[in-house]
Amino acid sequence: MGGLFSAEKTLTYTKQVPKASQMPNVILQPCGNPIAFRNLQRTISSDILIRDLRNFVSNPDWKKLKEIYTGGTCQIWGVEPKLGGNIKKWEKIASGDLAYFARKKKFVASGTVTLRMHNRELSLRLWGEGEAHSTWEYLYFLSDVQSMDAPLADFNVAMGYGAASPVRSFNVLDGVKGELALDYFGMKPLPESYFPTETTVSWEKVPPNLDRTDKEVIATQRLEHNYLKNSIHKGKPFNICAICHREFPVSFLVIAHIKRRSYCSDKDRVDKHVAMPLCNFGCDQLYERGYISIRGGTVVPLIRGPVSPPMQAYLDAVIGNECRYYSEDSQSFFEWHWDFHERRLKQIIIR
Ligand SMILES: [Zn+2]
Repeated sequence: MGGLFSAEKTLTYTKQVPKASQMPNVILQPCGNPIAFRNLQRTISSDILIRDLRNFVSNPDWKKLKEIYTGGTCQIWGVEPKLGGNIKKWEKIASGDLAYFARKKKFVASGTVTLRMHNRELSLRLWGEGEAHSTWEYLYFLSDVQSMDAPLADFNVAMGYGAASPVRSFNVLDGVKGELALDYFGMKPLPESYFPTETTVSWEKVPPNLDRTDKEVIATQRLEHNYLKNSIHKGKPFNICAICHREFPVSFLVIAHIKRRSYCSDKDRVDKHVAMPLCNFGCDQLYERGYISIRGGTVVPLIRGPVSPPMQAYLDAVIGNECRYYSEDSQSFFEWHWDFHERRLKQIIIR
């Protein structure tokens, strides 16, 4: 990025807003047009050196960037104000939110928001000017950026949109839409309270039929979730986490997809070997975010993301554990997880 930056001073401000709920928002970011694609290649597919940002950010922001990006590089995205319409949406963004980039009927990349920052000067330096002197000055910074290859049509069906709807504009999904999107991306199961609990649960029942229509999709997902949950917990009040081997009440165990649900075929989704119980105390997050994986039935380290000493201690305690959910039937799902997280975005050419 060297020549792009000069030593000018500029004013910036950053708002870090505490979230009302624990639930991350889902940011949808279209990158279909040539300029957005160019921006994507510049600051999402490529690493930006944070030291190149030093002269464009305030001292407090610089301190935060140094704390967050200990590896020295970051990814950045930004939106234009669009007569204020985008600003309202951008103001909902908080650290921990998940951003998904769509292009050519697919989601091609995802990342986790670390902070947002309004900074016109930095936007001009990163991406230049758009139409009518506009620039993408409402910025958000990302970590854990990964490539994806998930069809938009599946997402649309899960959300109750028309299957062929494109991601037309920047949007920040919260509330029920946000929950559905998180579930679709495999980031969180549907909350227990979302649907009335079934009074009688037969855990040996046949897999639900997944002939989906837009209207029935939510109920169908719920049936599938219950089927997997019952085949794993078998009605027991306690179960063992598949990675750390500790016992927890089942309400503290997530029915985690070994292969991310959004990449599963309908057949995969009702295969009881596609999921395993992971604890909320760390294993679910570490597996979902690709810090660890399972190879040949053993827990192995994977992505070198930012790690703090308590995290390292946790990783040390679980790496090398056997996973008893690894079998001939589940092997291909575990292999998918390893492959998916191992391919880091920069090694992949985004089509
Ligand atoms: Zn665990």
